[in-house]
Amino acid sequence: MTDSIFSKIIRGEIESHKIYEDDFVIAILDIGPLSEGHALVIPKEPAVTIDELSDEHAAAVGRVLPRITRAIKKVTGARAVNILQNNGADAGQAVEHVHFHIIPRFKDRGENVAGKPDIKNGPGLQMIWNPGTLTQEEALELGKHIKRLL
Ligand code: AMP
Repeated sequence: MTDSIFSKIIRGEIESHKIYEDDFVIAILDIGPLSEGHALVIPKEPAVTIDELSDEHAAAVGRVLPRITRAIKKVTGARAVNILQNNGADAGQAVEHVHFHIIPRFKDRGENVAGKPDIKNGPGLQMIWNPGTLTQEEALELGKHIKRLL
């Protein structure tokens, strides 16, 4: 259990730019947007990371993510979007309450300068994706242990 800034927003104790709400979920505009339309979809359940989230609240998030993404794409004109979800400080999580980032991407508007978010000129999100390798043996061994827990 946690009482993060998002719990306070959910309870209405702190103002936010709310764009959606139902019994399980709230969606707000991110106060530090990486691009125009950057929004956060937040389950009302006070779980810190996704592995703590109940099936019911996870399903509620999954139900509205596509709809909210569609609305943001339509309004901003974005043709590409990243859904980003950080769990734990090592993964870049700053607010200790589960949340899903909807980050529109605007390649045609140019990249931002020096990693500084500029919602007028383009995405402030930069990802470095360095894939490794997975052998048949490693995959079988790892998969066996994970499947046992599901
Ligand atoms: P994360 O690093 O995944 O925990 O991201 C936390 C996000 O919450 C950041 O993008 C912040 O800009 C955003 N944020 C923090 N406080 C607020 C707030 N009061 N209203 C809206 N967004 C917020």
